[in-house]
Amino acid sequence: MTDEHLRRCVELAAEALAAGDFPFGSVLVGADGKVLAEDRNRENTDADPTAHPELRLAQWAIANVPAEERGGCTVYTSGEHCPMCAAAHGWAGLGPIVCAASSAQLAGWRTGWGLPSSPVAVLPVTDVVPGLPVTGPVPPFDDEMRALHEQAAGMFYSTGPRSTKL
Ligand SMILES: [Zn+2]
Repeated sequence: MTDEHLRRCVELAAEALAAGDFPFGSVLVGADGKVLAEDRNRENTDADPTAHPELRLAQWAIANVPAEERGGCTVYTSGEHCPMCAAAHGWAGLGPIVCAASSAQLAGWRTGWGLPSSPVAVLPVTDVVPGLPVTGPVPPFDDEMRALHEQAAGMFYSTGPRSTKL
């Protein structure tokens, strides 16, 4: 089950990248194991730097899942939630998170590739939502995400004015 959902997250991340967005994808699964919603990063498509799939899924859950059922929902995601999405997840009252790659992994990869650091602090989800069950990284999906992020680094950073800094 976990593998199937994480595989879908990696697929959604690849779809995002193919559309010119950053490679992130997430799936919201109900207590009965049924997929309720899925989304991918749309930051460039929507010209909205907050268009993260984890935030969109939290908002979708608030609109579509009764509050008392949200704690039974699990969010599978290609990369651990950023603090913004973690906070939305916590406010929505959603349940466990399973991530292919951790935020610490992504930050380490970016540093290794000479990319600028994120404007938002890199924090574990549990620093933002204490006590939330978070599983990850989950091999081999973390390696698959590393490959997608490396591809994105080449697309979004190596040919611009920043390339002189790399
Ligand atoms: Zn986010």
